[in-house]
Amino acid sequence: MNFKRFGVICGIIVLAAVLVFSWGCQNQPTGPITKIEAGTPTASSKIRDTGSCTAGSFKISFNGSFVSGLGWSTGSSRSISWSGSGSGLSWGPGVYGWMQNPLVEYYIPRSGGSNKGSYSCGGSNWNVGVTRRTNQPSIEGTASFDQYFASGGGQPIDMSCHYSGWRNVGLSVGSQNYQVVAVENWSGGSGSASVSVPNSNWYTHWVGSGSATFTCGGGGGGSTTTTSGGSTTTSGGGSTTTSGGGGSTPIVVRGRSTDGQGRIDVKVGGNTITSWTLGTGMANWETSTQYSGGLNVCFTNDADNRDVQIDYVKVDGQTRQSENQSYNTGVWQDGSCGGSNSEWLHCNGCIGYGDVSGGGGGSTTTTSGGYTTTTSGGSWWGGGSWWW
Ligand code: CA
Ligand code: CA
Repeated sequence: MNFKRFGVICGIIVLAAVLVFSWGCQNQPTGPITKIEAGTPTASSKIRDTGSCTAGSFKISFNGSFVSGLGWSTGSSRSISWSGSGSGLSWGPGVYGWMQNPLVEYYIPRSGGSNKGSYSCGGSNWNVGVTRRTNQPSIEGTASFDQYFASGGGQPIDMSCHYSGWRNVGLSVGSQNYQVVAVENWSGGSGSASVSVPNSNWYTHWVGSGSATFTCGGGGGGSTTTTSGGSTTTSGGGSTTTSGGGGSTPIVVRGRSTDGQGRIDVKVGGNTITSWTLGTGMANWETSTQYSGGLNVCFTNDADNRDVQIDYVKVDGQTRQSENQSYNTGVWQDGSCGGSNSEWLHCNGCIGYGDVSGGGGGSTTTTSGGYTTTTSGGSWWGGGSWWW
């Protein structure tokens, strides 16, 4: 996607500096793909959010389509248990994940698909069904892949046993991408869920239509992520009011990535407070922090055809334009990575926006380590039953 922009930028560089130009614009190692492409395959902008959530639980309230989960950014042969339930869901809670080479999306327990055979795990007889998805959104973008549905038993889900079972009936088990305990709604309507996942450390939150609020930790100091397709929803979530606290300072980052997969970290005072995968359309991404100090927005997964453009950040009542910032280690200028006064991050690197007060406007709100993330996008969503 956006080969033209890439071509122009690198073409100029080739002409200007025939020598070692390519490392800056080209392949930095591609970061782990941590989230499904949201939206229809032709969506011009996508909303997806992932990040750290070590609280061991999450809550979600929704009115629309979404899939959200708490678990691990890389799947493994772990045994997975959870507690909790929800209302209004199409599926879950259950184990949900992706594998690559070949690309596979899996749900446990969930029935469906063409039955490929059975195996025993945890004293239960499981069946695995497969559905082929053709040119559908995936963690690799629009792709064709299999969905595995394993049904017949319950917790704990022994992933090692399921991998063996799948191999034994002739199914592929490739490399592991993320693995979470998820809840999903694809049929519209509203509801909620509350789920605990022991030893979890990472969440994925993807809203397709309507709105859904993801709260890490279920309140009382956890982080909150709100994503809505087509409108902005802000949640105060998870904060606990005490006296004399450190406050919470809202931060808005306006940006996009050329291929819809550019990932940024927002750092305050050296602390990474949130990470986002930016869609192709300019959108406001909102978070807040209790930290003070230097505010950096950093591009972390540079790759071919992947650049990030940050229009500005808003913090402490100020709009700080990227093009006015002298610190930019990711822009390609004068034949290398790093320069100043640009909205662009062509290479992995950061734009520095000066200090954040951390005062929270005199508020006495403090949290137990949580933060609030609000994600909003334009009307990128086509609506309807895009979900699988
Ligand atoms: Ca700007
Ligand atoms: Ca690049």
